[in-house]
Amino acid sequence: MLNINNNSKCKLCLVNDLENVGSHIFTDALIRSAIYIEGKSKRGDFEAIVEMSYKKLGFEYFGNSVLPEDRENILGHQQSDKEIEATSTNPFINRNIVCRSCEKSFSPIEMYFINKIYTKLLDSDNFSNDGLYQTNKEEYLISYVFILINIWRTSAAKYNDWSLDSGYEELIRSYLLLVLSQASITDMINVANDTMSSISCFQFAIFSLNQTEGAPSENAILVDYTTEPYVFLLNRLLIIFSSNCFETVGPPASIANISTRAEIIDLSSSHSKLKVKLISNENRRNLLRKFYLDRWSDLVNHTKNVLSYAYNCFTGQILPNSYHLELEHRIGVFIKADGKGTPEALINLSAIFLKEILDEQFKEE
Ligand SMILES: [Zn+2]
Repeated sequence: MLNINNNSKCKLCLVNDLENVGSHIFTDALIRSAIYIEGKSKRGDFEAIVEMSYKKLGFEYFGNSVLPEDRENILGHQQSDKEIEATSTNPFINRNIVCRSCEKSFSPIEMYFINKIYTKLLDSDNFSNDGLYQTNKEEYLISYVFILINIWRTSAAKYNDWSLDSGYEELIRSYLLLVLSQASITDMINVANDTMSSISCFQFAIFSLNQTEGAPSENAILVDYTTEPYVFLLNRLLIIFSSNCFETVGPPASIANISTRAEIIDLSSSHSKLKVKLISNENRRNLLRKFYLDRWSDLVNHTKNVLSYAYNCFTGQILPNSYHLELEHRIGVFIKADGKGTPEALINLSAIFLKEILDEQFKEE
């Protein structure tokens, strides 16, 4: 039998056609305050999104209402028409995930979580002296479904080329379809509870990042999904997620200095109430610094790999490590002098260096 993967159908219900409905991969209300331009209202029109990965470093998106002079102030140069076009697609919106009816079905759980839970998590007064927020089973179930919605959309959209194992993605899809098709939020909570065993392999630990200084926009939307457990940083919410139990996988490297295996197990194992741990303002800043430095290392390593690959193509030999060290040194000097370490600029540096190496190696006798 010929099995044709039908890309024109909704990925949640699998029945309705996609109708060009822009679906936010991460809940819009959750990420909005992390990406607006200072001094502007928090309307999406004023969003500005920076991407930081080895593929791209720089402003990826400006909302419609970000004026040319604001863009120029941020970028340090005037945008060409080509650049304006290239930065007009919001990377967090995907038009190939769900139909209109499924898109609407996310709303009750998302709004409940944002208005009744997330707002409480932003206020450190709602946490005990030990930094714990504990509440009832209803909030646990809402949070669980809320996180699954965000993870499923990320996976279904293949956001940044990431997706869950297809079997896991299907488990979450069928669970969400059943829960979200209920008529009322009470019914959704009841069905989420009654059918939880079908997705009990997924474990979560939720942390809230305390912020006592700095601008809302210094927070980030980051998905560190290189290995399990996965880390989703959505503004001031940090979600550790795994399809294994945390007893076997332990804490992800990016938060190893902030939490412990025992704490993550404690946060994830209480299925009768929601438990959230507060991360101090200082650790929030440490975490952001670590994420940014890791992305920077990715960028430098990618540049080194490009040099190794090109050298090998030209000479058939492995690039000596001393050249890697020299490239790293040159990147450092370049950044100090100019400060704009875009991926293109770094690749250009490695190309110039490669030419020097090859000139020396193949110089005329
Ligand atoms: Zn649908």
